[in-house]
Amino acid sequence: MEGPTMRERYDVVIIGGGPAGLTAGTYASRAGLTVIIVEKQTLGGQVINAEVIENYPGFPLGISGFELAERMRSQAATFGAEITTDEIAAIEDDPGTGYKTVLTGSGQRIAALAVVIATGASWRKLGIPGEDRLWGKGVSTCATCDAALYRDKHVVVVGGGDTAIHESLFLARFVNKITLVHRRDRLRATKILQDRISKLGQKVEFRWNSVVTEIAGTDHVTGVTVKSEQTGATELLGCDGVFVLVGFDPNSGFVRGYLAADEAGYIITDEGMATSVDGVFACGDVRRRPFRQIVTACGEGAVAAFAAQHYVEEKKGTAYR
Ligand code: NAP
Repeated sequence: MEGPTMRERYDVVIIGGGPAGLTAGTYASRAGLTVIIVEKQTLGGQVINAEVIENYPGFPLGISGFELAERMRSQAATFGAEITTDEIAAIEDDPGTGYKTVLTGSGQRIAALAVVIATGASWRKLGIPGEDRLWGKGVSTCATCDAALYRDKHVVVVGGGDTAIHESLFLARFVNKITLVHRRDRLRATKILQDRISKLGQKVEFRWNSVVTEIAGTDHVTGVTVKSEQTGATELLGCDGVFVLVGFDPNSGFVRGYLAADEAGYIITDEGMATSVDGVFACGDVRRRPFRQIVTACGEGAVAAFAAQHYVEEKKGTAYR
């Protein structure tokens, strides 16, 4: 990863180094802007957890999430985007200069004319033994990404909301059996999804009032421990994969109150990725949107970069007229 901030001021600061942020970085730096990407942890975001990505265009044989992220990083760096690791604490406006200051957890102050927020969303975890260790090794949060890996196999789905049922419907096209473990005696999912899953018959077995307390396996998932909330009885259930689909939260806490977001914290933008604050754009999973895929995140990253470029050129008086 590249070194610390080299400039006093940038044209664009991109917060988040997943597919949306890295694509925005490639587009903005290739357009000749000075760009810094600030990533909290590991470049690539959620993508690096995917064993194989088979639906990203250009890779007919699939590509590992880690490798795809590395290629995106390399592409952004090729065009001159600086990349640094830090956690963003807040964004401040400086009406006097027109610059915004991005404050980091380590005390850096990064000044930029435009800000692109691409901090993504984090899947809620169960917080049980085996979950972190086997993440990406049979534990998944994305049926669209991983379902084909479980052809004719048995998977456990945890959760009872729209995502759990929607993803189960997709998984059912591939797997032999789904055991759906839900902590209550009824689904939270909308009726239309409930109707659809009930039509799958014995392919889906419901374990009501039950929770998964442990995920077993050495190099890959081999089973889960399911506990009945009613009787307290536990059972080791053999399976090939576990889909933890208990909801997710946008990583937008650092801009709460600064710009418009919905009740769940997803940032509201227009079609050009502009937020309610002039010069601040948002793209990818942190943005309110219906479809959460790598390819859509990349598309939004490109749109956000174009919008930021236009904004910066207007500010500098270099825009084509
Ligand atoms: P969600 O609606 O918050 O549902 C989360 C589910 O996981 C709930 O059933 C919840 O149980 C369960 N859960 C939460 N924490 C748990 C834990 N620690 N252990 C076990 N179970 C736990 O989240 P979502 O399903 O991801 O949906 C998020 C939003 O996206 C919703 O607004 C949804 O409508 C939307 N969405 C829509 C579609 C669609 O096709 N229209 C598809 C996907 C998502 P309880 O029910 O007991 O709370």
